[in-house]
Amino acid sequence: MKGFSTTAVHGGEKRRKGEDSITNPIFQTSTYTFENTQEIIEYTQGLKERYEYGRYGNPTVRVAEKKLAALEGAEEAALFVSGMNCITSVLLAMLSRGDHIVLMDECYRKTRYFCQNILPKYGIEVTLVKTGDLKALRESLNKRTRLVISESPTNPYLSVVDFAELAEISKKNKVKVIIDSTLATPYNQRPLEHGIDIVIHSATKYLGGHNDLIGGVVLGNAAFISAIKEFRGALGGIMDPHSAYLLIRGLKSFPLRMERQNKNGMELAQFLAAHPKVRKVYYPGLETHPQCQIAQKQMQGYGGIVSFEIEGDGKKAARFIDHLKLPYIGPSFGGTESMVEQPAIISYYELSQEQRLEIGIKDELIRLALGIEDTVDIVADIKQALDHS
Ligand SMILES: *Cc1c(COP(=O)(O)O)cnc(C)c1O
Repeated sequence: MKGFSTTAVHGGEKRRKGEDSITNPIFQTSTYTFENTQEIIEYTQGLKERYEYGRYGNPTVRVAEKKLAALEGAEEAALFVSGMNCITSVLLAMLSRGDHIVLMDECYRKTRYFCQNILPKYGIEVTLVKTGDLKALRESLNKRTRLVISESPTNPYLSVVDFAELAEISKKNKVKVIIDSTLATPYNQRPLEHGIDIVIHSATKYLGGHNDLIGGVVLGNAAFISAIKEFRGALGGIMDPHSAYLLIRGLKSFPLRMERQNKNGMELAQFLAAHPKVRKVYYPGLETHPQCQIAQKQMQGYGGIVSFEIEGDGKKAARFIDHLKLPYIGPSFGGTESMVEQPAIISYYELSQEQRLEIGIKDELIRLALGIEDTVDIVADIKQALDHS
């Protein structure tokens, strides 16, 4: 493999493209035509590799898949219309009635919803285990357990799970492990190199990187991804060619963006940790982070998300947010623009304060998702908003 940035620019692409274009054309087509009957016969007998219909494949999507596979160090990749469609399709493809799975509890809210409310309707049992509690994980495994699914780092607490240990437990017990690696990206960690079987990303976040597309990708060995693509053809969740074009375009500058976002994350975490109005900072790059050593072992950088608790209550946190001038207020992260949210108000508003506290979401918790702006400008803005809150 060439260097990571070289791979981001050139990986997965043909050197010569249609009409000598330097960019990958957007194949905006629903179907593909055949010269004659003989060509159809050759295609159906597997003698000719080509496309048949847009729900099964598209050349623009294919380039994005190959580029992502090269960056992740995976044999193959499959792209979906969204991160959630990717997660749900992969789980439906892998599981059958009577199976059991283990889900680490600090996870994307809709992943938890799907596992706890929808999978049981199809006779699949789900056990929720505290994130990173490998003893509880071992105890929860039984002979019907098919897979373990976890995020690392998690959202919003940036907890980190030890991939090598997770891989060892899974090999011993013959279960597959899926890591949702959205917050880290292949720039900061490559779980497959640590023995993890399957990696998933919401491409909506850092991979696309410009807040202008929705997508998801699953990466793993060729046989597995081929089976997933069979399912994708039936469930219908392939990414559209225009989003794939935007994703390819976004990936060209992905390593440069990550470099800045890692720097912004680290410097903001250090600034906040030293500020008297901040009670607690969650960032895997800080020495005070409970899994700092695991993070150092398996990550090359710690990303652009910093969560923290402000001294005071939820109202005080809201006042801080409303005084910010640079970050946009809203959900999502990973784009060029910095964003801020108060999880209790935006992502967990359906829960009572008591229910939120049960899963550890305090009202005064703030999630800051840094973009690629200059660090000094972000620090100055955070500082003035803290002074005003
Ligand atoms: C955003 C996100 C998802 C869902 O992805 P979409 O592209 O929004 O469907 C899943 N997991 C994590 C960790 C995410 O941040």
